[in-house]
Order: sequence, then C-alpha cells, then structure tokens
Amino acid sequence: MERGIWQRVAVKEGDITLLQVDAIVNAANSSLLGGGGVDGAIHRTAGPELLAECRSLGGCPTGEARITKAYRLPSRYVIHTVGPVYSGKPEDEALLSSCYRSSLLLALDYQVRQIAFPSISCGVYGYPIEEASRVAVHTCTKFLKENQSIDQILFVVFSLAHGDVYRRVLKEAMSRDGVL
Ligand code: ADP
Repeated sequence: MERGIWQRVAVKEGDITLLQVDAIVNAANSSLLGGGGVDGAIHRTAGPELLAECRSLGGCPTGEARITKAYRLPSRYVIHTVGPVYSGKPEDEALLSSCYRSSLLLALDYQVRQIAFPSISCGVYGYPIEEASRVAVHTCTKFLKENQSIDQILFVVFSLAHGDVYRRVLKEAMSRDGVL
C-alpha cells in the first residue's frame, strides 16, 4: 500500500548536526567554503575533511545542490544547497523551491531514505519563515507524492516559534489535501 505523504514529514526542534539520518542538508553559500549559522555548525562538527571535499567541488550556484560525505557528523551525507538572499521578488520562491527539489533529487541518486532540512535562507539570508516554510512544505510533499523511496523528511528548526509555524503550515496543507 502506498504510504501517505503526511506520515513521511515531521517537524523537529533542535540541532541538525546531531541527527543520525542518511543525509542532512546544509544551507551553504555559493563558495561552499563554509560560513556562519548552520553552515558553520556543520563544518565545525564534521571537521576539516569536509572543507577539503567542498573545495574540490568548485562552488554551487543558487538553487542547486551538491553532495559530500559527512565525516565526523552522525549522518552519512551532507547535501549542500545555496538558498536565495531574500529580495521580495517572485524569483525568490522559485530559487528556494529549487533548493529543496535539487537536494531531494540528489537524495534519490544516493539512496537516501531519511533527509533533514534546516530552514534554508531563513537566517542571514532573511527569508521570512512563514513564506519559506510554505515553499518547503509544498515542494517536499509534492516530491514525496512522486517518489516513494524517500521514507522521511524532517524540517529541523532551532526555535519553538519556527516549529509552530511549520506545524501550522503543514496542518493547513493537510486540510487542503482532505487529510484533516
Ligand atoms: P541562510 O544563510 O541560508 O539564511 P543560516 O544558517 O543563517 O542560513 O540560517 C538558516 C536557518 O538555520 C535559520 O533558521 C537558523 O536559525 C537555523 N540554524 C542555525 N544553526 C542550526 C543548527 N545547528 N541546526 C538547525 N538549524 C540551525
């Protein structure tokens, strides 16, 4: 029987670097050479080997994704994606959606079954959490509908307030889908 998409998404508060999942996603910048926020936390925990592998990739354009090993992190892979700097223009949404979709396509290629996303672009890149979580939920649930091999998508947030926004957005999407 087809597993429902709504059983395969969850919101989790906490530090993404602690998660023992197949892949965690990094909200990187286009150099892929490390930065602050979640990127800094991932590189600190993974160790210098991660930076060395990232150096060999030669950067990543906004909206695309690249995969590396996870080194000292408990996950197997890190998928690095580059979110848009929020501008308030329509292209923000397409680029942010493309980050989620590109990361999930890489996950498929590497037989990743569980994947954890941070709130891409919602830190220093300034994307409002309400708008960004709608893009994340819409893009990810559409992908789950089309791809049975992904078992779980986790939206990992650092604050209870952001968790509440994701849960509300998920609920609204479920009720539109006739689940609630
Ligand atoms: P961006 O440059 O794409 O905006 P940031 O790293 O500044 O990326 O922030 C993205 C989101 O990740 C923010 O909501 C921030 O609170 C969150 N964040 C930062 N560190 C962690 C972490 N260790 N685990 C999970 N989320 C984190």
